[in-house]
Parts: sequence; C-alpha cells; structure tokens
Amino acid sequence: MNDSPIRQIVIVGGGTAGWMTAALLSRALGEQVDIRLVESDEIGTIGVGESTIPSIRLINAFLGLDEDDLLRSVRGTIKLGIQFNDWTRPGDSYLHAFGDIGLPLGLLPFHSHWLRSHQEPAAPDLWAYSLNARAIATHRFARMERVGETPLTGLRWAYHLDAGLYARYLRQHAAQRVQRTEGKVVKVHLRPADGFIESVQLASGETIAGDLFIDCSGFRGLLIEDALKTGYEDWRHWLPCDRAVVAPSSRVEPLRPFTQANARPAGWQWRIPLQHRSGNGHVYCSQFMSDDEAAALLVGSIEGELLEQPRQLRFTSGMRRQSWNRNCVALGLAAGFMEPLESTSIHLIQSGVQRLLNLFPDRHCDTALIAEYNRQTRFEYERIRDFLILHYRAIARRDTPFWQQCARIALPEPLERKIALFRSGGRIVRDADELFAEPAWLQVMLGQGIVPTGHSPLADALEQAQLDEFLSHIRTLLERAVDVMPGHAEFIARHCAAAITPAAA
Ligand code: FAD
Repeated sequence: MNDSPIRQIVIVGGGTAGWMTAALLSRALGEQVDIRLVESDEIGTIGVGESTIPSIRLINAFLGLDEDDLLRSVRGTIKLGIQFNDWTRPGDSYLHAFGDIGLPLGLLPFHSHWLRSHQEPAAPDLWAYSLNARAIATHRFARMERVGETPLTGLRWAYHLDAGLYARYLRQHAAQRVQRTEGKVVKVHLRPADGFIESVQLASGETIAGDLFIDCSGFRGLLIEDALKTGYEDWRHWLPCDRAVVAPSSRVEPLRPFTQANARPAGWQWRIPLQHRSGNGHVYCSQFMSDDEAAALLVGSIEGELLEQPRQLRFTSGMRRQSWNRNCVALGLAAGFMEPLESTSIHLIQSGVQRLLNLFPDRHCDTALIAEYNRQTRFEYERIRDFLILHYRAIARRDTPFWQQCARIALPEPLERKIALFRSGGRIVRDADELFAEPAWLQVMLGQGIVPTGHSPLADALEQAQLDEFLSHIRTLLERAVDVMPGHAEFIARHCAAAITPAAA
C-alpha cells in the first residue's frame, strides 16, 4: 500500500494549459486528490492557440464533452488540414491534410504504388487519394468515420477555436471538482531539505501548500524556472522565427475547413476561420524583419475588416531542460514552445497530462518516474521539432535573406536520415510512436519539393492494369463520398452555430 499518496495538487495558471490540466486530472483522479488552481486576472492569458490537431477530440471522449456543444461554445469550426501557400515558390500551394491517403496494398504502403504510377505525366496527384484533401478542396464536411462499407477511413478532423472561450469552457467543465483562486503568486517557498516546492504565496498574503505543483504559468515558468532554475534549451538555430504579431478580423466567406499558412519574406502568416471572426497572425524572425514591418505586412494582407489593433508576442522555440523537476511538472508554454506552424502546442499539453497520469507519483516523486517522464517528453518534442524544421529547410525558395539562411540550417540526424531515405526510394521511416504519421511526412516532404528518385522495387510486381484499376477505384470511392457531404458552413449552421450578437463578435 502507498503510505504517502498525493493529496493536494496545485496548478498555477488558468490559460488553456491550466484548465485543460485541471479538467483532465480531476476527471482521472476523482476524489483521491484536491485540486486547486490559481490564476491571475491581472496577468491574463496569452490569448492565442486557435488551431488544433485531431488528437484534441480524445479530450472530448475522455471528459464526456458533446462536440456540437463545444463548437457552439468556442465559436469553432472544423479543421481538416493546413494549406501551405507560397512555401516552395510564390504561387505554389500544397496541403497537409489529416487522415489516411489511399490504402496499403500487398506489403507496401499506398504511396509506394502511387510513386510508381506517378511516373506517368498525366497521373493524378497524391491528394486525389485523400478524402480530407477532397473535402478541403470543396469546403465540405460530414462526420464520416468510414467511406461506406469499404476499408477506406473517413474524415479526420480537428477544430479551430477561440482560445479564450476554450479555456472558459474547460473551466466551466472542471468547476465542480477544482477549487479556483484568483490571485497573483508572488513567492514560491522551497523545502530546504530537498528543494521541493512547499507552497506558493499570493499577493493577498495567502499561502497555498501542495504535494505536487503543476506550472501552467506561461512562457515565464514561474515555478519550473523562476523558482527551480531548471534551464531552457534554445532551438532558434533550427526554428529561427521568434516573434508573432496577431490581430483578429471580421469573418470572411466561405467558411474554410482548414488553416492557411502562407509563407512571407521572413516567416509565415496564418489565417484561422472562426464562426464570429478570423484569427490572423504573422510569425517572423526578428533578425530579418522589424516589428513595424511585420505588423504592416499583416494588416496589409488581412481579408475582411481589422477588429483590433495588432498585438506583438515574443517567444523562443525550444523546451525546458526538464519538464518535471522535483515535485513540479510544467505544462503548456511553461514547458516549452515550438512555433505554431503545425498547431502542436495544445496537443503537447494533452499528451503531457496523459504521461503524468501514466507515471503518477506519490509525494516522494521517485527519480525514476521523473527521468522517464522527461525522456518521453523530450522524444515527443524533438520529433515534432524535426517535422517543423522540414518546412523551413527543404525549400527551393531563396528570394530573401531569411529563406537563404533557412537553406543553411544544419539538420538533426533523425531528420537528415528521414529525408535521405525518402529521396532515395520514397521510403518513410517513423521513429517509435512519434506524433506525425506517415501521411503527414509524405505530404510535407513532397509539398516542400523533395522528389524521390525512385520507388520500392516491390511495387513493380503489380501488373500495370491492376495498378490502374486499384488507383481509379479509390478515386471513384472518394469522389462519391465527398459528393454526399454538406458544405462546411451548412454543417456548422445545422449542428453547432453559435448565437453571435454584433457586440460579441
Ligand atoms: P497562458 O495562456 O499564458 O496562461 C498563463 C496563465 O498563468 C494565465 O492564467 C496567467 O494569469 C497565469 N499566471 C502567470 N503568472 C502568474 C502569477 N504570478 N500568479 C498567478 N497566475 C499567473 N497552440 C496551438 O495548439 N495551436 C495554435 O495555433 C497556436 N498558436 C500560437 C501562436 C502563437 C504566436 C503563440 C505564442 C502560441 C500559440 N500556441 C498555439 C500555443 C498556445 O497559445 C498555448 O499552448 C496555450 O494557449 C497554452 O498557454 P498556457 O496556458 O501555457 O499559457
């Protein structure tokens, strides 16, 4: 029997990280623990983080949230993937659509057969075999988990959501089980014997003690860094963008079921469609562009009417040397941040909580648990980092000093290996259970202009006529499937339209 169980968890921070952690921990741990969350209205939250990946839907299942209610509450829309514009050269466009592409055949993944077929100049491109890509192209959506009775998987989707409303929604959900305290933490008390955090002190003078502390205080890392001096690994030599300027604008039609990421002279710009407005942000490298220039470029390219003045944000892509140090686990921006090109930060909060639950400690916080948590966290961060670097490094574009510098980024070994294997025969290797699956690597490698010099010899075993029939059958099935889907805007109107008053917009 465990004679020193965790009884009191203190979460510092009430942004997406704080409330997501509170909701998940309170659901998983039930009455065994008291959870207290401290947040400061004066400091507020970062107020960005509006594009997600499909794993976010697992949270709904775990917390028992109704998807329509969630989308209505956060004024959300559906995200089927990301459209990358102007990355390889101005005017070019490719998709990272979620979900599977085609079907495996024999011993080979689908793309090996497609690569063979693609030697013909008129052969359809890869995205003709992705249901998500077809729905993106026609702005359609339905909750279709399979393509009829066929082995083809249906749509895979995530959400665009209003970050402030999402944190509020999770807060409402967790409210009954989590004690919320409004106040500013001004001091962190450490236990002299072992340096564990004993309590946090608020500006009001109140002291809150705990057995386990979760640092969700944002970039600053009030507990993990200010108090425990854990250290931060700076990855700007791999991911050079370090600033963003953000501004909302009025909603534009059509309501797109995808995020747009448009390359810019010293970075890139996002467009995120919400029900009541669009989110816009320009991510850039301060070494090559001033804040004023970045803001002017953003404002000049916004679709619709600007609703607020642009707001500047600074960040350093990288990760905390240890996300779990002593009795403190950092989640969200306090744990690290990789720029938002593939919308991975909210996912990292979720997977961090899941990891913590799998390795849940007692009050002693066994060093073996801490080491394993940090090892798994590092693996997840580093493989996501590599996927992001791919977008910058594998690029034909050399038209500005920023993109010229990107072409010189030294690749981490796992990424170098992945690119070499893809180039030499279209092989995609995925390390263990890294986040991004084969279709994601495939689309971004091809999209960024890495062309395999050949295909697997096993693909040649299939008769040409068989291959043609296999491919055309998949295209027909996907075409029929997408034809019966309603438009994305129609889906939202029918299932989850938010009541939006002009003042609320
Ligand atoms: P915050 O929102 O900063 O919250 C910190 C909390 O700590 C607040 O409640 C604050 O009041 C509290 N706090 C701080 N100090 C104290 C104190 N002394 N006392 C008491 N309370 C305190 N993620 C995605 O998944 N998709 C995206 O598209 C995306 N886009 C992004 C774009 C940009 C430019 C940036 C910078 C980030 C983006 N992110 C994105 C990341 C996303 O915004 C964060 O992961 C998410 O919002 C979680 O933030 P947080 O809760 O860790 O921090």
